Amino acid sequence: MKKIAVFPGSFDPFTIGHEAIVRRALSLFDEIIIAVGANTLKKSFYPLDTRKEMIGKAFKDEPRVIVDHYTGLTVDFCKLKGAGYLLRGLRTSADFEFERAIGQVNKSMAPEIESVFLLTAPDHSFINSTIVRDIIMNGGDASRFVPEGINIKDYKGTEDLSFKL
Ligand code: ADP
Repeated sequence: MKKIAVFPGSFDPFTIGHEAIVRRALSLFDEIIIAVGANTLKKSFYPLDTRKEMIGKAFKDEPRVIVDHYTGLTVDFCKLKGAGYLLRGLRTSADFEFERAIGQVNKSMAPEIESVFLLTAPDHSFINSTIVRDIIMNGGDASRFVPEGINIKDYKGTEDLSFKL
């Protein structure tokens, strides 16, 4: 049976930290679905379609990576896609505590789905989407923090100043 993993997240925007986790996980799974959470209550800096387009560009060389989006429970999306694995990245002990709670809840809701955690490389452990957005919103050059295939300057984020970092 095909080993399919879902890598869920906000990816607002997708960073080299996210990219590294997916590329490493390609040695573990046959297919990885990068699933952008389309949470209508959570404001995003980049619109959903923009985030999906950026991720598609980062993996245009990799047919085993699929970009999709979902609403609702992540485990329900996994079941819908026939994915037996949930992929997440761990940077810090704070990530671990957060992921432990989510992982345990997911396990109790869907025992057949395994969560798999990959530790970030040390040089990616400080990279997060919030910092990248902050650089962009303040007119800085964030290109070194996003995958090579993404020309971040081509994309416009929201100008809504009430957007919270
Ligand atoms: P979420 O809103 O679900 O936390 P994110 O887009 O922030 O979505 O992150 C998605 C996943 O990628 C999470 O598992 C997160 O821990 C992981 N991640 C984020 N940044 C990095 C990084 N620099 N290195 C490794 N994993 C990361």
